[in-house]
Amino acid sequence: MRSSTDRRNFAVGPRNGGAAVKGVTQRVHSPDQSRNDPLEDDVQAFLIDEDQLHTFDDLTKVNPVTPATVLKCLQARYSLKVFYTHAGCTLVALNPFQPIPDLYSVDVMKEYHYATQPQEFKPHIFIVAEEAYRNVQGQLEPVNQSLVVSGESGAGKTWTSRCLMKYYATVAASAQAVSSQDAVERIERRVLDSNPLMEAFGNACTLRNNNSSRFGKYIQLQMNRAQLLVGASVQTYLLEKTRVACQPANERNFHIFYQMMKGATDEQRTDWKMPQDQCFVWLPNCEKQIEEDGFLETAEAMVHLGIDAERQRQIFRVLAGILQLGNVSFCSSTNESQPCDLDQDSEDFLQRAGDLLGVPGEELCRCLRVRTLKAGKQNVLKPCSQAECGVRRDCLAKVIYGQLFEWLVTFINSCICADQSKWCNFIGVLDVYGFECFQINNLEQLCINYANEKLQQHFVAHYLRAQQEEYVSEGLEWSFIKYQDNQSCLDLLEGSPISVFSLLNEESRLNRASDSTALRGRLEKELEGNGNICWDKFSKVPHFTVAHYAGKVSYQLEGMVEKNKDPVPPELIGLLEKSDNLLLHEIFSDKETEIPQSKGLSRVTVISKFKNSLENLMKLLLTTAPHYTRCIKPNSDCRPLTFKNREVILQLEACGIVETIHISAAGFPIRIPLKSFVQRYGPIGKCSTSSRLDADPDAESTNVLQQEVEKLLRVALQHNVSCDGRRSLVHCGKTKVFLTQLMLDLLEDHRGKI
Ligand code: ATP
Ligand code: MG
Repeated sequence: MRSSTDRRNFAVGPRNGGAAVKGVTQRVHSPDQSRNDPLEDDVQAFLIDEDQLHTFDDLTKVNPVTPATVLKCLQARYSLKVFYTHAGCTLVALNPFQPIPDLYSVDVMKEYHYATQPQEFKPHIFIVAEEAYRNVQGQLEPVNQSLVVSGESGAGKTWTSRCLMKYYATVAASAQAVSSQDAVERIERRVLDSNPLMEAFGNACTLRNNNSSRFGKYIQLQMNRAQLLVGASVQTYLLEKTRVACQPANERNFHIFYQMMKGATDEQRTDWKMPQDQCFVWLPNCEKQIEEDGFLETAEAMVHLGIDAERQRQIFRVLAGILQLGNVSFCSSTNESQPCDLDQDSEDFLQRAGDLLGVPGEELCRCLRVRTLKAGKQNVLKPCSQAECGVRRDCLAKVIYGQLFEWLVTFINSCICADQSKWCNFIGVLDVYGFECFQINNLEQLCINYANEKLQQHFVAHYLRAQQEEYVSEGLEWSFIKYQDNQSCLDLLEGSPISVFSLLNEESRLNRASDSTALRGRLEKELEGNGNICWDKFSKVPHFTVAHYAGKVSYQLEGMVEKNKDPVPPELIGLLEKSDNLLLHEIFSDKETEIPQSKGLSRVTVISKFKNSLENLMKLLLTTAPHYTRCIKPNSDCRPLTFKNREVILQLEACGIVETIHISAAGFPIRIPLKSFVQRYGPIGKCSTSSRLDADPDAESTNVLQQEVEKLLRVALQHNVSCDGRRSLVHCGKTKVFLTQLMLDLLEDHRGKI
């Protein structure tokens, strides 16, 4: 390895070794510069040291740090099947798109877990896992941890979250659990089993990812004082339930339906009225053969989690009922005063749907085709148009599936969540749907991309901004490193008083038919001049385009207001409340008050609910110590071991990886309050204060403490030839001492010799 004084193309410094304090010129990376031609930039440099590229375990060691150098390093490592690389405070995880057999074995977990210094091992998701595990019962006080996994759709977030959960289920398993043969009883087993179950109901094959999460989740792994995993709880975010009744072209419905089609026994098929040769409108692309082999695993997970055979039957009959409902279609009515007729065969489908959902077929038929309006004290029946009947059918399927999913999550929580008295800290794993940009994007993508903006903002605020602001407030002369702040995009989306969401909500709360042209007019008028939004004035399709941190996305306005209202006709709820299917009956009679039909200004919209839940998540994240993992999708075709430069660089730029590396490389990852520092290392400088502090911790003023720190640092640095004069390793701030890892090791070494 080269030394940091090597002025050739590569210089390897200590991890996080350089500092941007006075006298040291700090390279300021501007994201715009990098866009000029990032791939050409510095390429010469790499031609010389090409064979060394893969050796950089931490991108902070690369010099110079530019999009091109970072890209080349990752590419070199990827070609040698090295998928993890540190980027300062962040771990970059490249998706191999093929199973790597020995990378995640229990033996490897144990290696990382039992290592004295796991961070000296090869970069791995287990380093992040172990760091969080060791920090959760911090030396001074316990700190809850969050593992924030981000990246675009198909990048590997869910895979990574599963790895993390398996890690804790292994290293934090109680001795009793390990020796127990009764797998069903083990909490670790149950926590892990919640994954396939939630994925079966909440994941689907999309154009980007065969196993795309269509909901977000934050799992809190509950640890007791002995740091054993004693339970977990799951919080989910906005399931994309429209998929149940409307699958985008070339995409599929949720996995569970295909699993049932493929995995059911003959007996189950009969019970579910699902003959082998039956085609379902809502099950497109059956021939694709993806993920449906999971039926056994799903059923087993249900058993482990305590969903008994009768409950399972109720669940599967509800799902089968939804599929039958999808085959029901309506003819246009010639007489407006008469309900429209059912299409040929639809009568049978409707009867079967009614049977499976536990409601009388005729009543179901009436609720789908006739609306009940209140006129004073009287009810007036009004036949629905063909289109309205279709909307009501879809609405019924969506509300059933959405509520079934919520019931499932509540059930899972009831059997994995430990009693509050049994745990004291948690490690949270966050896995939300990745950034999406399709040909046609609507409210679903707006919500998904908004969630990603919020996460990016958490990173920007917590790391990029907060770190640097702290340096300045502590008196370090820091040359601010520019980064791409997405706050302006968030202001556009959720800001007050006027934003995309406020206008969309206003429109949704008006008691009038949804009108996408009117909404477009208001957006244009109210948000004109905002640099984050634009319109193609000549386009006939009402839309708006948002410049997200990860790229521009055009959202179609058609149908957006209606989706945001997410109305559920009360007749349908009334029908489900009376269902003979005990599960449906339970869900809907309990939910009576939870599916509010409020109108006007108080209407709870999809966006207002989602925004609220994300805000709570952000608040929770801020109370925890975060660890960031950035999953990168090396190619959009999901081909094994294929690395496409352009695609990767766009992702690296979008998440600000170069800025992160600069700030990490130039920064001081370790901060110790002045008093604690003098107490611990005072003896090195023979500081009299340290003994006084031991006797009376409130004894000394900041000034005196700062002088003591300076004195002991002089001694420590003098004694170490290699570090003589390298004050860039440490800086004494107003309330804390800021150090690099190297400096901390040095001080500890010194202390040990006294
Ligand atoms: P979405 O936002 O759509 O949910 P995601 O980021 O959660 O996407 P994953 O489902 O985790 O993406 O990953 C997509 C696919 O990539 C996986 O199904 C798996 O085939 C593959 N994959 C991801 N990570 C790994 C890995 N570490 N090793 C092997 N294969 C992987
Ligand atoms: Mg996922």
